[in-house]
Amino acid sequence: MLDRIKQVETVARLLEPHADEREVLRSNVIRYTEQFLNSIYNIPAYIVTDDKGKGIYDSPISEEPIDIHTALQLIKHNVDRPGLNPASGGHLAYIPGGGIYASALGDYLADVMNRYAGVFYASPGAVRMENMLLEWIAEIVGYPKNSAGNLTSGGSIANLIGIVAARDALGVKAKEIPSSVIYLTNQAHHSVDKAIRTAGLGECILRYVPMDNRYRMDAAALERMIVEDKKAGCRPFLVIASAGTTDTGAVDPLTAIGDIAHAHEMWFHCDAAYGGFFALCDEGKKILKGMDTSDSIVMDPHKGLFLPYGTGAVLVKDKKNLYDSFRYQANYLLDARQSSDEHSPADLSPELTKHFRGLRLWLPLKIHGIKPFRACVEEKLWLARYFYEKIQNVNGFEIGCYPDLSVVTYRYIPKRGDANEFNQRLIQEVQNDGRVFLSSTRLNGTFVLRLAVLAFRTHLQTIDLALKILKEKAKLLEEEA
Ligand SMILES: *Cc1c(COP(=O)(O)O)cnc(C)c1O
Repeated sequence: MLDRIKQVETVARLLEPHADEREVLRSNVIRYTEQFLNSIYNIPAYIVTDDKGKGIYDSPISEEPIDIHTALQLIKHNVDRPGLNPASGGHLAYIPGGGIYASALGDYLADVMNRYAGVFYASPGAVRMENMLLEWIAEIVGYPKNSAGNLTSGGSIANLIGIVAARDALGVKAKEIPSSVIYLTNQAHHSVDKAIRTAGLGECILRYVPMDNRYRMDAAALERMIVEDKKAGCRPFLVIASAGTTDTGAVDPLTAIGDIAHAHEMWFHCDAAYGGFFALCDEGKKILKGMDTSDSIVMDPHKGLFLPYGTGAVLVKDKKNLYDSFRYQANYLLDARQSSDEHSPADLSPELTKHFRGLRLWLPLKIHGIKPFRACVEEKLWLARYFYEKIQNVNGFEIGCYPDLSVVTYRYIPKRGDANEFNQRLIQEVQNDGRVFLSSTRLNGTFVLRLAVLAFRTHLQTIDLALKILKEKAKLLEEEA
């Protein structure tokens, strides 16, 4: 047995490279990322390749190692080249992501130290760091000290946590589900629908509230529907509003919705995954007024704080509701249950073991300060408005509604032929060009183009480039027709 232990130990120790080996690994990775960062303003936002990253299969997972250089080449050709480049400022589609460098270093630290951020006693400092960040987010929202929250993997899980807390706080039991009513608009993010189903609420009555001509929930209609449903013997229990819809960036009338929900003893869940952090600047704060009237809220640091993918946040106004839904006891964790005033993330979410997400948020906030984050979200609001002003003066373009936040919709009206078809070809041309990446959606059956400004590398010159490309491609397609 001892022989075998020593034999496997020799191989097992390969998992721990020596200092000089670490230096080789690290310098290769740094050289690779520096090349990327030094060319980030010149590489396309979107690249179509024939192989679509298929080469990754040519090097199967096997017993034998490859060197770091070969590994990086595989990543370069198969992962970092084909498709959308979310690190590019030219990413003006969907809701752009971030990728600030200080977060990557935060992840590096978190991963090397591998602190266990799930339970207070295991890493009190890590847990305090996350709780401090959640308190900071609660302050931005305007939530009281008695709130609690969780750093999640993203907005989808954050929505799930908020909706589960609503279900339990209002005591919606299985037999009441068919007569319980949830109100939302058809502009709510699809992760909300998914969360409703995942929470076992798929058989509730879903009421889609009408919207005004800027795709915002009609609060008066909401109230009428609630009253009617009550009269009919149903139980309205949850309103889900958006603070920044994905399609058009619309912000529902939050204060009015909060008032109505509470007058009828319902829960108000606010999905501010995209829009929430605009409240960092005064201009955004005005638009988002009323966020604090919600009972739970979702904000995505990997959107509005420009973090790399993998960080969402949920807050629940009364921490008791979050505990009631997610706290568990396990025998093998009894010694982890020492009394303390600090929340343990594991008591406030479905996760037990989790990535130490706090560090990738804390480090950039500390080493940059909040100021550039405020400026960056304000810049994005103005850039969207700038695009809105400019595109309506370009011949042939028709503008959608004035942007609440940083999403603008528009389309080209061709001299001849079908507008929907023309715009589909236009978006294809822009994507094939690749210098910027735009997307599209359908609003009331009409195909429209979108420009969504939230990548931290998007600046005035990016918007001017997008305008130039749209003008060029529309002209080209007109000439072809
Ligand atoms: C992005 C988004 C979500 C989903 O968040 P993920 O982080 O992608 O899981 C939910 N709601 C809105 C409004 C969003 O923009």
